[in-house]
Amino acid sequence: MLTVRDLDVRYGRVHAVRGLSLDVPDGGLVTLVGANGAGKSSVINAVSGIVRTSGGTVTYDGRDVTRWPAHRLVKAGLVQVPEGRQVLATLTVDENLRLAGWHSGPGLVGEVYERFGVLAERRDLPAGSLSGGEQQMLAIGRALVARPRLVLLDEPSMGLAPKIVDEVFRVIAEIRDTGTAVLLVEQNARRALAAADHGYVLAGGEVVRSGPAGELLEDEAVVRAYLG
Ligand code: ATP
Repeated sequence: MLTVRDLDVRYGRVHAVRGLSLDVPDGGLVTLVGANGAGKSSVINAVSGIVRTSGGTVTYDGRDVTRWPAHRLVKAGLVQVPEGRQVLATLTVDENLRLAGWHSGPGLVGEVYERFGVLAERRDLPAGSLSGGEQQMLAIGRALVARPRLVLLDEPSMGLAPKIVDEVFRVIAEIRDTGTAVLLVEQNARRALAAADHGYVLAGGEVVRSGPAGELLEDEAVVRAYLG
């Protein structure tokens, strides 16, 4: 579904991602974990067409999409849930969801309300009035309305209470269970590895370890060096 090869991202003199390669198979749940500043957001933003790549290739669904703009990728089913939710605070929940359905049509908005009862209850409230956890559900709901085949989630558990984090991870598992592939970027490495099939550990913009997520989680050296 997604193949990244030798990806480089630079911001002027900052070399944020160095020769990174990773794969997300059809319907797989893959996680990219690493400390603050390791380059996780740069990878996800480069794949999503939000940040320009300085080298390497991104192949999605058999096509070279390295230079595709974000809106074209969204139409093709590659949809990002950005770090910090980025909901449109002054618009209502319903308006946020309908806008996200600009190309797929509003048909999926009803499905999102069925899945997230809390969003249905708050549909006419400004998105900015929702709690952090509710805003995260809205951010995920917005991605689902776009009829994704691959969802990229950037730090979905950030700043949320433990109970809400459980709910976010339950929703991520549900997304995968419906056959949608997921690339999950997380600082909460233990939770992310526990949920994923395959994991990549990023440090200083490079993949330092990768393998079946369960094996990484049980590898004492990995846990000590990178997962805290
Ligand atoms: P975080 O969890 O804090 O988002 P991260 O692992 O996602 O961390 P990135 O945000 O990708 O890491 O940042 C990787 C490196 O690139 C860091 O050194 C960061 O300071 C730098 N960086 C990120 N964005 C920019 C930018 N727009 N301009 C300059 N440097 C940047």
